[in-house]
Amino acid sequence: MKAIYIPQLAQAHERTQTIEFKENLKGIETLTPVQGSLKVTHQGNYLEVSAQADTIVTLSCHRCLQQFNHRLSVAASELIWLADSEDGSGTLPFDQDLSVDDLVESLPPNGSFEPTAWLYEQLCLAIPQKQLCDQQCTGIEVSDAILNPGIDRRWASLESLKGQLPS
Ligand SMILES: [Zn+2]
Repeated sequence: MKAIYIPQLAQAHERTQTIEFKENLKGIETLTPVQGSLKVTHQGNYLEVSAQADTIVTLSCHRCLQQFNHRLSVAASELIWLADSEDGSGTLPFDQDLSVDDLVESLPPNGSFEPTAWLYEQLCLAIPQKQLCDQQCTGIEVSDAILNPGIDRRWASLESLKGQLPS
């Protein structure tokens, strides 16, 4: 996806740009291209970004270490404050019923918005903290031989010799 030049977005139809995408993102390995759409609207002193995206990633189960495929679905939105870093004090749009917390990210009003980088962040945030191949996964299988070394039949013939050896 190409970067969106913010002043140009202000001139766009309804100050909005919608991008449909189906591509592999740098930095995140996916089995299928990341597919979905992203919408950016210029709201004067902030950008309103929203996207929905789907892909499939391969994860390693935290219990049994097996790899498994996981569908990653993202429906995210964020408000990005437009402020020059030099006068970072800028005025918050308090009239818009927004709190500072809603506007943690900021971009210079004459800068560009990078849809690919933004989407990459959203996908990373969507990767589950606890990765399980199955909620019922019991972990690594431990075989009987390890649990009960006494019954390993490879040693059975040695056992039988024991009584026959002269003491
Ligand atoms: Zn597992």
